[in-house]
Parts: sequence; C-alpha cells; structure tokens
Amino acid sequence: MSIENLPPVIRHWIGGELVDSADGRTFPVADPMTNTPYAKAAAGGPADVERAVAAARSAFPAWSSLGNRERATVLNRIADAVETRHERLASIESYDTGLPITQARGQARRAAENFRYFADVIVALGEEAFRQGDEQFSYVVRRPVGVAGLITPWNTPFMLESWKLAPALASGCTLVLKPAEWTPLSASLWPEIFAEAGVPDGVVNIVHGLGEEAGQALVDHPDVPLISFTGSTDTGRHIIRSSAQHLKTTSMELGGKSPAVVFADADLEAALDSVVFGVFSLNGERCTAGSRVLVERPAYEEFTRRLAERADAVRVGPPSDPATEVGALVHPEHYERVLNYVEIGRKEARLVAGGTRPAHLADGNYLQPTVFADVPRDARIFQEEIFGPVVAVAPFDDESEAVELANATQFGLAAYIWTSNLKRGHRIAHAVESGMIWINSHNVRDLRTPFGGVKASGVGREGGAHSIDFYTESKIVHVAL
Ligand code: NAD
Repeated sequence: MSIENLPPVIRHWIGGELVDSADGRTFPVADPMTNTPYAKAAAGGPADVERAVAAARSAFPAWSSLGNRERATVLNRIADAVETRHERLASIESYDTGLPITQARGQARRAAENFRYFADVIVALGEEAFRQGDEQFSYVVRRPVGVAGLITPWNTPFMLESWKLAPALASGCTLVLKPAEWTPLSASLWPEIFAEAGVPDGVVNIVHGLGEEAGQALVDHPDVPLISFTGSTDTGRHIIRSSAQHLKTTSMELGGKSPAVVFADADLEAALDSVVFGVFSLNGERCTAGSRVLVERPAYEEFTRRLAERADAVRVGPPSDPATEVGALVHPEHYERVLNYVEIGRKEARLVAGGTRPAHLADGNYLQPTVFADVPRDARIFQEEIFGPVVAVAPFDDESEAVELANATQFGLAAYIWTSNLKRGHRIAHAVESGMIWINSHNVRDLRTPFGGVKASGVGREGGAHSIDFYTESKIVHVAL
C-alpha cells in the first residue's frame, strides 16, 4: 500500500511555524505493514520544548482572556476543519498505526465531537456561589492553569490528542502537545486545522520526539504547571515522580486489564459480539479492552468454543483493505512483545484460537486473534496488559468468585457485565474495582461522564466537567454582606 502526499519530514509546530529541532536531529517513522521508514520526524529536546513553552506563555494572556463564547466559536471551527479532513485522516491514521481503515474512519467524527462538546460545556458553565445567612457571600472564580503539557500514546493518536486539546483550549489554557513517537503522522494535520480555524499562533504548540527526551523536558519544565498524560502505567509512575519536583497537577490515564464477566443467564450472543468487539477491534490496542473474559461455569465450554470460532473467523489483513477487521500491530517492538506473551500463554493456559501469524501475511506485524482458555489467575497473561488481539478466558462458579477474579489484578480501568439479572448486574458493578463499568452494553462513551481508572489504571478523571476542573484552578472570593 502506498499513500500520497506524505510529508518527508514531520516537523514541530511552534508559535505558528513549522520548524526543525534546534539541533537538527530527526528519527525515522515506519509503517507497520512493512516496517520500512517512510518519513523522518523532528526529534525534540529541551531547547525545542523551551521554545514551545515560551510561545505558549506569550499566547496565554490573550487566549485566556477571550470570552467563553469566543473560544467556543473557535473550537467549533476546529471541529469543522477536522471533519472536512475525515478521509485524509482515516487513510493516514490507518497507514501509520495499522488500524483497519473502516475503524480509522470513525476517528475524525469522534475527534470533532470532542471539540463541539467542550465548546458547549464552556458556554454553559456557571460558577458556584454560596451564602451564609445574611453575613457572607462567597463565589468561585475559575482561571485556566496556564501552559498545559499534553502527552499522548500511539493508539488512536489523533482522537486521543483531541480528547486533551479540546478541554484544555476550552478552559483557556495554551499548551504544548507531545505526540507518541511511533505514530506522529496524523498530528501533522493539526497545524493546518488550527490555522484554518483561526487559532492564534502560540496557543497550540507541538513538539515531536522521544518520550525520554521531548516528553521528559516537558514534564521537567517549571513553566508547565499541569501534565495530562495517557499511556502506560510505568511511564505514568515515572511522570508523577518527575512532576513532584514542581508540584505539578497531573492526570493519569493508564493501562488496563479489564474483565468482561459473563453469567450463564446472559444473552450469550450479545455478550459474544461485545467480547469480540472489545478485545479485537482497534487491533486489541485499546485501553478499555475486555482482555479477561470470566464466564460462569454452566456457559463456560459453549462460550469459549464460540469465542474461539469467532476469533478464527476474524479477517486479518492489510489495514487499507475495507474487509480487514484486524490490521497490523503498531510497531515491530510492540509486535515482539505481544508474540512473547503468546509464547508465555502457551505454557500457562490452553490455546484455543490463533497464536500465529496468518499464513497469507508474510511480512508486517500481523497476528491471528488469539484466545487462551482455562487461564489461572496468577498467569502473566491474566495479570499483565498485552495490548494486542489476545484474550484470556477463565471460569467462575458464583457471584463472589466473579468479583474476586475481576478484582484480582493491579488494574482497574473498565469492566463489562453480562447478565439478565439486573440487580446482580448493579451489585457487581458496585463491587468491581474499576473506574468505568458497562452492564449489558459495550464501551459506548458519553462525553459528559467521568473517564478514568483506579488502582494502576490511573489517577484523576477527565470527561465532562471533570476535564474543566482539571484545566482550571478555582479561587474562592468571600464577601461580607
Ligand atoms: P507509553 O507510556 O510508552 O508512551 C506514552 C507517551 O509518553 C508517549 O508520547 C511517549 O513518548 C511518552 N513518554 C515516554 N516516556 C516519557 C517520559 N519519561 N517523560 C514524558 N513522556 C514520556 O505508552 P504507549 O505504549 O504509547 O501507549 C500504550 C499504553 O497507553 C497502554 O498501557 C494503554 O493502556 C495506555 N492507554 C490508556 C488510555 C486511558 O485512557 N486510560 C488510553 C489509551 C492508551
């Protein structure tokens, strides 16, 4: 597959200009179908971050003092500019990340919706007021925190960038975004989108580069009081440690190993559809993937057999082919990591589907969707996030064992519960340690609701008013009456 009009160099965007790194360094960017470099990206470091933060600081007074309605108008124009590029976005996102083209097609709409939603939120936002009898009146003033540092991962990169850009801009912050180094291509659309929408120079700055260099420089910069991070748990821990030096506010959206709990009384066909979607769509590279499937004993054999049949029927192929359901995993290093888990799983559990590269795909990072059954709770494939099309299935005997198994990992991002007994569904939802739970439904988001995890899956919530709380500081003013 080839794709037209790719930029030979993906450059930083600082103060409204496309620029190279101060020291001229670049790093190669490859596509996951051939693992051949197709472009270079600027490799940012402290000097580039310094420049970007300075641009964001000088743009802050004007942007933060715009009225909410005016900022909302700009956000709606950004949404329009994103939507007009939806085909281009889908094709470059699919090319750079290996996502099936049909799934990449939804990304522009979701990204645009993030901007429209936060435009609405900021216009509708009221500030709180309190009265103590006839003696005192107090009111809250919200102020944007300043220059926000946004650090994002490689899965659905453009959409996840928009998830942070939209509320930060709506709140009146200016910002520096550090996209993931494995997938910098779609971020190269932002400069033209922001220019077309009339975002003033310096409000948004993008510094590409490696996490340990560009990302770390952003985390260490004293004039960036806030870091919004989505990525792995280990990197999140490291960023919290580094942020402590300047007492930064951080939001951590981290890894997961989310359970799908299926009771024998569930609509098994619907549960099967959801489980297949939850762990194999987006190539299994989804933070909220239901990657542990717990099935009540009476339904266990049948469910496992049908899941294996479904996995065998999933079409793995080139991401650009509209028939493809699972494309190429993002990077050879990640592919090796996932294959290593498959080898570990062979020793720990019973392989019932997949486990190998599809015979018709000799090159590229392809793996047949893989199902392991009878997975013990202490198995690594039960405990660790694999972040690929690999699922661990285990039986349970009763409700309390279901909850115990669901909670038996360090993670707590999402959970899915399938039962026709709604009282039980609610009981389990309350007992499961995770930030987001779906009962008889799968991963349908509502942008007004809190998004985030507990335990090793994160700290803090974004989404709805939570995002605005995060990107603003509240100040209380007390007045005697
Ligand atoms: P990662 O932690 O390796 O990288 C994420 C980002 O952090 C990248 O931009 C990287 O360059 C940067 N980074 C790395 N080291 C850094 C450092 N020392 N200082 C500052 N920045 C640094 O994660 P990944 O492999 O890109 O993403 C996959 C992970 O993201 C998975 O664990 C997945 O579950 C998680 N994720 C979570 C959510 C969520 O909302 N909870 C959403 C998507 C992905």
